[in-house]
Amino acid sequence: MAVPLIRRLPTQQQLFDLAPPPVRRVLVNLEAARREWFRRHGDYRALVARHDPAFYRRPLAEQEAYQLAELRRLLEGARRDVPHYRASLPPDPLATLADLRSLPTLEKGMLRRDPFAFVSERLPRRQLWARKTSGSTGTPLTFHLDREATRHQQAAADAMLAAYGCPFGERRARFSGAYVAPYARTTPPFWIWIDSYRQLQCSAYHLAPPFFDHYLQAIRAARVAYGTGYPSAWYLLACHVLERGGAPPGLRAIITDSEGVSLDQQAVIEHAFGCPVYQTYGTGEIGQVAWQCRERRYHVLTRIVVIELLDAAGNPVAPGEAGEVVATSLAGANTPFIRYRTGDLAIAATDPCPCGLQSPALLSIEGRLDDYIQTPDGRTVGRLSHVTKPGRGIRESQIAQVARDQVVIRVVPDADFDPASMAAVVAAAHRYLGAGMQVRWERVERLPRTRAGKLRHVVREL
Ligand SMILES: [Zn+2]
Repeated sequence: MAVPLIRRLPTQQQLFDLAPPPVRRVLVNLEAARREWFRRHGDYRALVARHDPAFYRRPLAEQEAYQLAELRRLLEGARRDVPHYRASLPPDPLATLADLRSLPTLEKGMLRRDPFAFVSERLPRRQLWARKTSGSTGTPLTFHLDREATRHQQAAADAMLAAYGCPFGERRARFSGAYVAPYARTTPPFWIWIDSYRQLQCSAYHLAPPFFDHYLQAIRAARVAYGTGYPSAWYLLACHVLERGGAPPGLRAIITDSEGVSLDQQAVIEHAFGCPVYQTYGTGEIGQVAWQCRERRYHVLTRIVVIELLDAAGNPVAPGEAGEVVATSLAGANTPFIRYRTGDLAIAATDPCPCGLQSPALLSIEGRLDDYIQTPDGRTVGRLSHVTKPGRGIRESQIAQVARDQVVIRVVPDADFDPASMAAVVAAAHRYLGAGMQVRWERVERLPRTRAGKLRHVVREL
């Protein structure tokens, strides 16, 4: 049988790799234009104005009244037009915001089984943007967003960026998993300029020490006003800047996303680049969820999302306890996410934030429910960020379960790394994981990333 033509043709990625740089730039800009049609087309400025962050300074009761009204509208549309919700939502409108708790939650598995059951039947399929998450546990997830939801998500983000003095449209540098250079390439450039975003898109896949100076030069040469993207990338460059000395590229701020970051790492980036660093939290499905203020608290973007923190049984956690972030998006009624279990853990603040914002705040994002070690005696141990604290001169680390009873702590050493301090790290790991778990540590030059180029602190590689 003849091989279908489509399989004999080179893939998009192969074509991209073969193309000369000017053609690559055209290809990247064509894709950017396609995305912009979903994200920022039409009267976008008015939409950004609707997401003015001044809203988060209003009394909480006022913010919640807005959320309740939006939820009622959203639920009514979902019950009428969206197959999954038609079958699962009760007919009565919510009386209070707390009544949201009576609705069923949405698990990723349900979405994976039938993604179109979560899309309005009134919407032509060609108006949908099929999005994929890389699925850190190895199971990718496809979901759909329409223009309305995408534009609202983008407007909420752009309004926040502007509030931090970093408006969209000013030149910027971004690190992320976007594919801009062949993985195997060992000579710069590992970046590409995207005209329509005015963005130097930098590859997160080529961040090896010999290339750090090249990256910094490229950012300087692009005369960008601010930075965005993976904090692990900015952190590696920050360490390099501090070691080598010399002036870093002048940036107004760096707004990080997509990965976790520790307060220590955040402080290192701020010190090296001499500008504030704000970490943001969101998911592909829901969009922006919460942004850090200058007090390092994550304020929920109440204009676009309703957040609950739940325990394993689905009940609200006690104040100060970590709970799973369950999010209801207010971004659009055609592709609704109602009580979506994100798999991320967070702790809510219980006192008012000194920054003056009245929206609820998360004290910390504790990583993902998937980021845990399973001990031989059957326990699940997450939140291992304290394990490496006793180590001296650790630049980055990763705790990897490589067998049922074996854990490896991978360490990227700094110049002042003290191998003797690792005994205390191993002892700390034993305290959390029990004596039945073999724990060793190893020195590595670079930590393995996910397929999307992200760094995760705890991984299982069984
Ligand atoms: Zn605050």
